[in-house]
Amino acid sequence: MSSTKYAGEPAARFMSFGAGVQSITQALLIKEGKLEKPDAAIFSDTGWEPQGVYDMLDRVEREIFHPLGIPLYRVNNGIIQDDVLNPNKMRGIPGFTASKPYEVEVVDRWAICPDETCGWRKLRQVKIDSVEDSSEMSLFTVVSADLTDMAGLFDSVVMVPERATLDDLDELTRIAEQREDDDGDDDIIYSDQVATALRRAGLDRLPEKHDACRSMGVIATASHTEIRRDYGMLNRKCTQTYKLQPILEQVRLLLGCVVGEEKLCRYCNGERERVAPWRAKRGETEVAECSVCEGTGVISRVGQPPAGVWAEQWIGFSTDEITRVSNRGDTRYSKSRYPLLELDMSREQCIEYLIARGWGDVVKSACKGCPFKSNAEWRRMRDTDPKAWAETVAFDKAYRNGPGMNHQRFLHASCLPLDEAPIDVKQAREWKASTVPDQVYAARLKLADEGDPDGCSPYACRSGNAA
Ligand code: SF4
Ligand SMILES: [Zn+2]
Ligand SMILES: [Zn+2]
Repeated sequence: MSSTKYAGEPAARFMSFGAGVQSITQALLIKEGKLEKPDAAIFSDTGWEPQGVYDMLDRVEREIFHPLGIPLYRVNNGIIQDDVLNPNKMRGIPGFTASKPYEVEVVDRWAICPDETCGWRKLRQVKIDSVEDSSEMSLFTVVSADLTDMAGLFDSVVMVPERATLDDLDELTRIAEQREDDDGDDDIIYSDQVATALRRAGLDRLPEKHDACRSMGVIATASHTEIRRDYGMLNRKCTQTYKLQPILEQVRLLLGCVVGEEKLCRYCNGERERVAPWRAKRGETEVAECSVCEGTGVISRVGQPPAGVWAEQWIGFSTDEITRVSNRGDTRYSKSRYPLLELDMSREQCIEYLIARGWGDVVKSACKGCPFKSNAEWRRMRDTDPKAWAETVAFDKAYRNGPGMNHQRFLHASCLPLDEAPIDVKQAREWKASTVPDQVYAARLKLADEGDPDGCSPYACRSGNAA
């Protein structure tokens, strides 16, 4: 970052307003003259906030911003829950994913390959006491691991590993040593280890492939099947798309930038409709509104301010959120500032401050169906806002299959439908994982219990860390 990047005074001061504890505290501090007055406040609306957040937004506008003459801009980039369910849009939230259950064969007992001519069997039988330090390792382990590491060497001298003789391996060692001299890297010379292993097993070349033991030197004699699922989590691009992008666009507009000339949308060639590329890839042919130009056939963007023109962007991180601070949202024309950090205020202090002034009922700002919700938050929604709960349960059901995905998507970490998820269980261990008693799974359930104390900020990850 050049030191002249944000030279002089900012052209304007804007406040990123999320309508949560910290941003309302900032608004009240402005009202009480403890912070200077910004030129505007900007709220980015995902369209999926709890009603309490919208109510609070109206109240702040009415009771604080309006009397102070601070305009509040409500910006958006579409309605997140509609977009996420639209197969013609590639929009996502950080949902939990699980593959369909599948069976795997788990070997209980191994026996040495019964074919006496099998070279891999010979390697298996010779235990190591000198090639490597582990006495439990078989030569097979050394050879197979080193063969993998050697793949590049084999390639570069056009040598077929299955046909390599001891002479070939010695040649590889010579080449590797030469390379090491040339580039100064201290590569381990795997070919030398493989050659040593072969010599100790009384072999003069690498064993040929053996189908009966799949070149493993051992065969399974007892096994059972297990049901498994693979788990994952989707990327979180939503705050960027639905919060940061529209805020920055508004900042540019307020800095005097104009909406650029309309250009023909090259994604649909101005046709307004197309088959979404990820659907076409799957052989689907349904034509739908082009998601890039949103069915207008043209694209126009808000321009960039001239060099040197920049705005201060107030972000309401409190002292307990110091790890969320990053310059992620900074651009050439927008520089972050953290008034609550300057005033050394923690979230607790903000809450006390709000209560003392009659603003004690602030709701955490986050999408109703955000997968980062803790079990406590899910319970609260279920028990106090049945309408929002019913909507979110229905959303979760509709969310199961995503565009171009084989895995299923879920809002709850348990990868169960929201209305069946173990949200009443406080400890992961109390919950009987009926299918997969897996550590990763247990860790996810624990996370679901604890959740994230902070709201969703365009400037930080919801999981409490700077993104
Ligand atoms: S609340 Fe959750 S789903 Fe909504 S924008 Fe933030 S991270 Fe995404
Ligand atoms: Zn064999
Ligand atoms: Zn288009």
